[in-house]
Amino acid sequence: MMELQQLIDQANFVTFMTGAGVSTASGIPDYRSQTGVYAGKQNAEYQLSHDNFVNHPQDFWEFVKTNLYFPEAEPNVIHQKMADIAQRKGMIITQNVDGLDKKLQNENVIEFHGNIYDTYCTKCQQPVAWQQYLQNYQHENCGGLIRPHVVLYGEGIAEQAVQQSVAAVVKADLLIIVGTSFQVYPFAGLLQYRTPNARLVAINKTPLEVGINDVMITGDAVDVFRQINLD
Ligand SMILES: [Zn+2]
Repeated sequence: MMELQQLIDQANFVTFMTGAGVSTASGIPDYRSQTGVYAGKQNAEYQLSHDNFVNHPQDFWEFVKTNLYFPEAEPNVIHQKMADIAQRKGMIITQNVDGLDKKLQNENVIEFHGNIYDTYCTKCQQPVAWQQYLQNYQHENCGGLIRPHVVLYGEGIAEQAVQQSVAAVVKADLLIIVGTSFQVYPFAGLLQYRTPNARLVAINKTPLEVGINDVMITGDAVDVFRQINLD
């Protein structure tokens, strides 16, 4: 913990790589734990696939609106302290689609898998308010299918998000992985762009395999971030 504080204080550029464990303290379920979005559901990954969206648009919409939208959720201490550090000297690359990092008016955020509140019509390409999408998945103007701008199973990551993320990893002399088991590709593959001198800290409820010079903090990220001092 002392070591983490020192590493943050001394770093020139801190890149955070985050996942669902950052937002659970804001009341947003993760995907794979016992209380997660996928728990007790068959074919949950298929529900969130491009194929399901195209072929069973109503099923897709019902799954998404029931399981992914938490508009009342607010950023927690992890989001707040990461935003403060990133605004001064860093970047947040998040796998989360909940938009909580952007709620803090921090520009230094890359939403690797998109944002569930960014919704548009796939026929006329017009932006549509997410509130309207939650009422009806068909666009009232043209009848086209509305969808959130997120990466579904079977779809690729936006090229711009990949390029910006690689640049943020290359630039970092401190990488902090928070709240992710770091097993989903291509997100996990970003680490191959780490420079030889960059230090790495991983904070997660279950331990990750890290290198001999890396720091693994196993525990609740909320407790860890509460203790970080920002002068
Ligand atoms: Zn339309």
